Amino acid sequence: MPKPIIAIVGRPNVGKSTIFNRIVGERVSIVEDIPGVTRDRIYSSGEWLTHQFNIIDTGGIDIGDEPFLAQIRQQAEIAIDEADVIIFLTNGREGVTSADEEVAKILYRSKKPVVLAVNKIDNFEMRSAIYDFYSLGFGEPFPISGSHGIGLGDLLDEVAKNFKHIAADEYDDETIKFSLIGRPNVGKSSLVNAILGEERVIVSNIAGTTRDAIDTPYKANGQDFVIIDTAGMRKKGKVYETTEKYSVLRALKAIDRSDVVLVVIDGEEGIIEQDKKIAGYAHEAGRAVVIVVNKWDAVEKDERTMKEFEQNIREHFLFLSYAQVVFLSAKTTKRIHTLMPEIVKASENHALRVQTNILNEVVMDAVAMNPTPTDKGKRLKIFYATQVAVKPPAFAVFVNEPELMHFSYERFLENRIRDAFGFEGTPIKIFPRARK
Ligand code: GDP
Ligand code: GDP
Repeated sequence: MPKPIIAIVGRPNVGKSTIFNRIVGERVSIVEDIPGVTRDRIYSSGEWLTHQFNIIDTGGIDIGDEPFLAQIRQQAEIAIDEADVIIFLTNGREGVTSADEEVAKILYRSKKPVVLAVNKIDNFEMRSAIYDFYSLGFGEPFPISGSHGIGLGDLLDEVAKNFKHIAADEYDDETIKFSLIGRPNVGKSSLVNAILGEERVIVSNIAGTTRDAIDTPYKANGQDFVIIDTAGMRKKGKVYETTEKYSVLRALKAIDRSDVVLVVIDGEEGIIEQDKKIAGYAHEAGRAVVIVVNKWDAVEKDERTMKEFEQNIREHFLFLSYAQVVFLSAKTTKRIHTLMPEIVKASENHALRVQTNILNEVVMDAVAMNPTPTDKGKRLKIFYATQVAVKPPAFAVFVNEPELMHFSYERFLENRIRDAFGFEGTPIKIFPRARK
């Protein structure tokens, strides 16, 4: 089942980013320091009761020099294009404005469900302000207060009612879904063509299905694959398609549906800052990753070049130490055969479940080898560990006091687990938990 996508639209200052942050919650990043990934976030996951979803703050998508009204119209169009359910946010302290009416006009044209919310209703006395908003034509307005956290439960209940109309993802669990991300011109489209040219067995091209994406399913060596479209491959000719935030949004959506993400780098140009940011998204999403150095044909090389380039990648992408690096040329298709085995391996490891007894042997051996840390005279005690999830593999480690688990010790345990089980290509997560 794909996660439903909610988008928040509305004119500036109604409280979109306040609501977004409330719903997403304070999520502490496990990544050390990836520039721009956690900052200015416009797309994130959230949950309400049993519902998991992704949410977009369209207000964060800056459409360059467009005039004010054009900007908010385009943000509403993005919501219609990208979301399953739309929250139309207004400000109860200012009443209905002409800009609200403009947004409403765009939303009327969409078949997507719209839930109208009136923000800044900070107390009960202010509730009468909502009646004005019936005139927008979206039925009952939901009074909320982003800064006080009032009314969000009722709003999300209403939003979640619309989730059941969303079609299930069309692929089974055995199908390996992957996407290609990277800045423009690194060769993503060429690589897709090279992969498909090599395999030749395209099942069909599903355009504009439930996700409004272009997926290309194919079969190779008895294994089903799907290539999931990213921004570069879709061209509707809309103004906002060229904006950076929008392409990031498209990439994040594709990453979210993938098992494996290919981070494509231009071998001729080398690594630039933007590559790091893009790779950071894949890592944060907990997807398996293969780093692809493309245009290897255009690189002047001797027997050391590949090793040096890989060294360079390792230094730049410290957080992706688990990812394998593949060097190839989409243009000449040289070394292209080295890619698929890495995708398959990363995907298998991403879904790998290990035996609890062997896991505990590994953890106990690790503790015997390297004593647990102490703090203020107290020592961390590890009782046992168990795998709690796959995609990516996650381990709960039951301890006396979770605060005693230092980052460096967690890293040490992760490395021991990797030494024992492999897990090449996939991030793994470790959660210290207090034993009850
Ligand atoms: P955006 O431009 O729509 O994303 O709006 P922001 O989230 O940046 O909020 C605009 C301003 O409204 C900020 O100063 C917020 O603190 C304020 N604000 C947001 N929600 C509420 C609310 O529920 N009540 C009140 N009184 N102010 C709010
Ligand atoms: P995208 O924007 O990432 O999808 O990149 P494209 O696939 O459109 O490729 C951008 C440019 O790089 C095109 O001119 C391609 O011909 C060129 N290109 C792609 N792959 C290779 C490669 O392996 N070697 C060389 N020399 N050029 C390539």
